[in-house]
Amino acid sequence: MKYQSTRNKELRLDSAETILKGLSDDGGLFVPVEFPKIDNEEILELSKLGYCERAKRIFAKFMTDFSEEELFECAKNAYEGNFEGEKPTEIVKLGEDKYMLELWHGPTCAFKDMALQILPHFLVKSAEKSGDGKKTVILTATSGDTGKAALEGFRDVKGTEIIVFYPDNGVSKIQQLQMQTQQGENVNVCAVKGNFDDTQTAVKEIFTDDKIRAKLSENGKRFSSANSINVGRLLPQVVYYVSAYADLVESGEIANGETVNVTVPTGNFGNILAAHYAKKMGIPFGKLICASNANNVLTEFLSTGGYNINRYFFMTESPSMDILVSSNLERLLFELCGKEDWYVKAAMESLHEHGEYYITDEMLAYLRENFPAGWTDDKGARNRIKTLFDEYSYLCDTHTAVAVEVYEKYRERTGDTTKTIIASTASPYKFPRAVLKAISGRNFRNDFNAAKEIEKLSGLPMPKQLRELSKKEPRFTKVCEKKEMADFVLSTVGGEN
Ligand SMILES: *Cc1c(COP(=O)(O)O)cnc(C)c1O
Repeated sequence: MKYQSTRNKELRLDSAETILKGLSDDGGLFVPVEFPKIDNEEILELSKLGYCERAKRIFAKFMTDFSEEELFECAKNAYEGNFEGEKPTEIVKLGEDKYMLELWHGPTCAFKDMALQILPHFLVKSAEKSGDGKKTVILTATSGDTGKAALEGFRDVKGTEIIVFYPDNGVSKIQQLQMQTQQGENVNVCAVKGNFDDTQTAVKEIFTDDKIRAKLSENGKRFSSANSINVGRLLPQVVYYVSAYADLVESGEIANGETVNVTVPTGNFGNILAAHYAKKMGIPFGKLICASNANNVLTEFLSTGGYNINRYFFMTESPSMDILVSSNLERLLFELCGKEDWYVKAAMESLHEHGEYYITDEMLAYLRENFPAGWTDDKGARNRIKTLFDEYSYLCDTHTAVAVEVYEKYRERTGDTTKTIIASTASPYKFPRAVLKAISGRNFRNDFNAAKEIEKLSGLPMPKQLRELSKKEPRFTKVCEKKEMADFVLSTVGGEN
């Protein structure tokens, strides 16, 4: 199986090269040239297998330059022992129609663990295949969840180093502590004076700085990305959608072949794109419902065909969805326009220069049919947290609440009562003050006190790895100016291999 760039369809790379590169040199994203298929018979077979076996089977279809043994080993290293419970994911049924696919039982309590626990193993194997013996340096700018999940995934993984930058005042207390207290010999964390955009821009500059790259190369190292544009993050997400469908078949909740909708709280469009990829493989997914918060640029795009980022940027209680440029949408665009790389390039240039682009009516018609969209604000999400708690004694986080709220409105509006998988993307204890406010109306200043109160009200224990944060001594407390970031990188990874 080969991968092509959305901005140069002639380029064809193996999955190992694709994973090592992250982003294509032309600025495009890598996509599989075709989609391997899964039929009902195979779904039935998969339903009898454990998670790692399922993962191996699906990866093997997309990563033909890896052996099945290698893929199984990667899956086992990632998913066995690192997740609470027997399986890495859980499904909780609410009412007649809602299946909450809980993806946050990993080490950092957000769904990003599902991909970032396995990406380091893919990267190490890919580097071995490339045969150049270079060490991989992961450089990441984070607004919260990605940084911690990447640190946890890469910690002490041989042949890798990781540096995470986060905006000094741009992450929650819990998120900051999660990163400051990170363990591991090959990790480094630094806060940056500025906001997330400043941090991300500076990281991109370091990535492409010829002098820094040359220095790295001299020392036997190369940069790579743990960002959601990496194919190595997308494929593990396809796996959990296929696996969730297989679980519903196995438990008798659905008949094999029955259509199921999927609802996803969306930011960078990676998670919902993975559901779309599973559908392209033949998993009987119907509507893929795209849920946004007040930064509803995707709702607008999916209903009008105009993508426009010249708009106000809201800081919401679902911060991981506070995004205006959803990078992974480029992959869908490539598919929609019939794989015309020039079309994607023009659209992305227009977005860069004017902050907007428009698609054709035909493309829009496809989107409206397949990706119904909706949005809600913080109040709508909080009300939904409260309703779910009162009705089902079920507690969800602020991101997941956006998805449930948008789904309920969709069902009312359309009368579509098809069963739906709803992606549950974070533990409610990752955003304890907002969750407490939702269920009790009370405002707490301190995350840990709020969490204790939630425990009292709900009886649901706070995950150990979050609880222990309040007792841990911060290890990385450096704060630097934007212009000092390059020096920080050089001083931490500039040394010999
Ligand atoms: C990253 C994240 C999202 C958004 O996922 P995308 O793949 O970027 O669309 C939603 N919820 C949580 C909790 C996240 O961390």
